Amino acid sequence: MTHSNTDSFYTSKEFHTFFENSPRSLVLKADAPRFTILAVSDTYLNLVHKQRREILGKGLFEAFPGSEGDPSEQNSVQSSFMRVIATRVPDELPIFKYEIVVDNTGRKETHYWTNLNEPILDEEGNVAYLINTTTNITGRIRLEQAVEESEARFRIMAEGTNIYIAMADQESNAIYFNQAWSRLTGRTVEDLMAYSWVDLLHPEDKDRYLKIYLDAFKVKGPFHGDFRILNKDGEYRWLLADGSARWHTDGSFAGYVSASIDITEQKQSEQRKNDFISMVSHELKTPLTSMKSFVQVLQRKAQKDGDELTVSMLDKADKQVSRMTRLINGFLNLSRLESAGIFIDCKHVDLAELIKEAKEDALAHISSHQVVFAPVEPTIVNADPDKIAQVIQNLISNAAKYSTPGSTIQVACVAQDGKAVISVKDEGQGICKEDLPKLFERYYRVENNESRHIAGFGIGLYLCCEIIKRHEGNIWAESELGNGSTFYFSIPTVY
Ligand code: ADP
Repeated sequence: MTHSNTDSFYTSKEFHTFFENSPRSLVLKADAPRFTILAVSDTYLNLVHKQRREILGKGLFEAFPGSEGDPSEQNSVQSSFMRVIATRVPDELPIFKYEIVVDNTGRKETHYWTNLNEPILDEEGNVAYLINTTTNITGRIRLEQAVEESEARFRIMAEGTNIYIAMADQESNAIYFNQAWSRLTGRTVEDLMAYSWVDLLHPEDKDRYLKIYLDAFKVKGPFHGDFRILNKDGEYRWLLADGSARWHTDGSFAGYVSASIDITEQKQSEQRKNDFISMVSHELKTPLTSMKSFVQVLQRKAQKDGDELTVSMLDKADKQVSRMTRLINGFLNLSRLESAGIFIDCKHVDLAELIKEAKEDALAHISSHQVVFAPVEPTIVNADPDKIAQVIQNLISNAAKYSTPGSTIQVACVAQDGKAVISVKDEGQGICKEDLPKLFERYYRVENNESRHIAGFGIGLYLCCEIIKRHEGNIWAESELGNGSTFYFSIPTVY
């Protein structure tokens, strides 16, 4: 830009009226080192908290003492002006830090500005004036500083802990592992990110855990799962991971952050406990079996002798022995499940047939309740008949256990949307909402006055759940406290 007029143009009333509303800041005379202020915009006055009359006509650095900066420094206002004068091309200071007095108490704030200086040439082509545009970027810089600080805080926290922290982007690519991961695996963070964490998973856990992990990306909800991972000494350690979805500030999904802890000791002590329960159950089973046969021999003898009192006492003893055998069998099933898993031997079966057997069993063993079997539709499923019969029997015996004698238990089997749905409904004490989702956990028992005197270890429903899971099915309960419960399970039908 060139202009042939002298200062009078920039100090004219018309120019001032025009410039005061301009987004630019100052018109300065290129009279280094004074840089006389010839015109000032309102935007600039707002920015520097000054009145026009305080600065107009003054040298820039006289109006703002200390703002010139070190002339030998690239990022100083003075050196920017000198560059424009020497080169005749615009010059920009991308971040210019300034301590500004913001009110009449003399309070100072650090502001960050960008500073653009453009030349106006005279007829000889020399820089006669400078147009300065100062923009306040304090907000953006503070936000960037806050983000940097929060990242630094996260890193200090993540690097200084023995919890294994990792992050993935929205496509499930690993983008961060903390040092704890490197210490555990003996691999560099780069190595772990190049997908090698997956190679370190125990072959038996890999598919199961990756399914939990990758399924979470579809629903973007929290995930929770355990797995074994090879450590630097070639041993497997058990980790328990908790993952939370991460979100960008615009609300879009950013991926996951996971925190994992080492649960090897807990797993080992759980294993020792399972081994102990299994050993004790085995040891108890043998004397119980002999006891049962002795009771039965004595019962036959007492019957022969016509000793009714002894017969009835032995009958009670026999029932107690059977009850104890059932409890012990529950533990044995549990430890078998945990050590080797349940072996499922599937074939095509009609659930109506299994329910018929359950009916005969109920008629023989449950005299305290009225057990109704309706409706029962023929439904062909691919299932292990013994295991499914065990589930049905368990649900019926729970219904009898947790409801008052004389009430009705209704068992039904219907075909619905490609599934067989079996339900066992009782008129018992019911279950409160908070307990419902936990019933199928191992050792979970509802603690209340009614159930306190009912014997059990909280493993029946856990076993049912494991069996149904292995049939690609679902198991759940619906109930209201005081209004009975209905337990359901569904498995896919074949036809
Ligand atoms: P157990 O009966 O041996 O304690 P289960 O795993 O079979 O173990 O059941 C777990 C818990 O669920 C029971 O302790 C009981 O509190 C509750 N429960 C199961 N079935 C019923 C039912 N039909 N009505 C009310 N509560 C039930």
